[in-house]
Amino acid sequence: MSETDRGPEETEWVCGRCSVTLTPAKVQVSYLGSAFTVVLPVCTKCGMALVDEDVALNKIAQAEKVLEDK
Ligand SMILES: [Zn+2]
Repeated sequence: MSETDRGPEETEWVCGRCSVTLTPAKVQVSYLGSAFTVVLPVCTKCGMALVDEDVALNKIAQAEKVLEDK
């Protein structure tokens, strides 16, 4: 169990189209030929996932680190 990194992001994301607060959900992201599951804010109304590139790449980098540490 190493889920103790820094704590959850408290940023509230809102869908630009629906003005609905986005809820964190698991989304599959492909990066360099590998699929990663990251938690991203998703609109419950239109299903749009907010892919913040910096956040996504950050999480992928963390996932890669975990893979390399094995
Ligand atoms: Zn929406």
